Amino acid sequence: MERTILIATFNRGKVNEINQFLSSLPIRGIDLHKLPGLAPCFERGGTFEENACQKARYYSQFSPALTLSDDSGLVVDALNGQPGVHSARFISEWATDEERNREVLFQMRAVPEERRSARFVCCMALARRGKLLDIFGGTVEGLIGQEPQGESGFGYDPIFFIPEVGKTMAELEPIEKLRVSHRGRALRKLGGALGTSCLVIKP
Ligand code: IMP
Repeated sequence: MERTILIATFNRGKVNEINQFLSSLPIRGIDLHKLPGLAPCFERGGTFEENACQKARYYSQFSPALTLSDDSGLVVDALNGQPGVHSARFISEWATDEERNREVLFQMRAVPEERRSARFVCCMALARRGKLLDIFGGTVEGLIGQEPQGESGFGYDPIFFIPEVGKTMAELEPIEKLRVSHRGRALRKLGGALGTSCLVIKP
């Protein structure tokens, strides 16, 4: 029988990637647009984990469905971990992805190749009716490129180069991105938990 998970994010890129993963399981993803008028969760945490837990608990109060949140971002070593948990609000809440990417590249303009290391981090949390059930993490290591490359994905994908693949994240097909990405890694852990753990998923 098909089951339902509320994908607790307004970020279209994340929703698409999570839906793509869920389509391989007997689970239907619904997103927050199905709950009109919902006020966004105010993120106060200092870590991806805190924010993911906060969002999962908050949104799970408005639906009986199992609720999955995603808090993620780009951590750049030469920028002391920035944009980090502030990735979605880097420069300003209203900046575009392109403006944020340009700003990261500008701040990195004098940083040599060997110090351009960075990682994408994802923490997902699962909750039901306001109660946290589990958390799943994933990271992927890479380098900040010299200029944006690629049209796929969203956010910082065009400036994140993955040496082992020889491409930026934005040059990957969606299915390839899921294979190597921080989100894909966290989702596979979620898939394992849904298939094997004591979590009972009701329709
Ligand atoms: P959050 O909604 O507070 O978790 O912020 C996530 C932000 O991190 C997004 O708006 C993007 O800027 C960035 N981000 C997270 N995951 C990805 C990804 O897979 N690719 C590119 N940027 C990402």
